[in-house]
Amino acid sequence: MSQPTSNLRPRRPAPPLILHELAPASVIDLPDSELVCHLTTFGSSRETCPHCSGRHLQLVLRQENVRQAHLLCPGCGRCFDASYPDGQPALCL
Ligand SMILES: [Zn+2]
Repeated sequence: MSQPTSNLRPRRPAPPLILHELAPASVIDLPDSELVCHLTTFGSSRETCPHCSGRHLQLVLRQENVRQAHLLCPGCGRCFDASYPDGQPALCL
């Protein structure tokens, strides 16, 4: 007895995200020196910082001092927006 398997599709890996560097002042209401220690992050993303090899970016959602969800590098403090290759925003939460 054989079952049809035509409805099984191979899983495609998610496309890589396109990173856009943001000025921290445009998304966060904190002085640079207090940036990392005052933010609540929501885990590491798959993406890595283009400036710090191998550092995974941390997801930062909107919160008290954050105006826009973004990805933060814990190494250099840079902030990034991310979109899919087709231009759809990836951090729309
Ligand atoms: Zn970095």
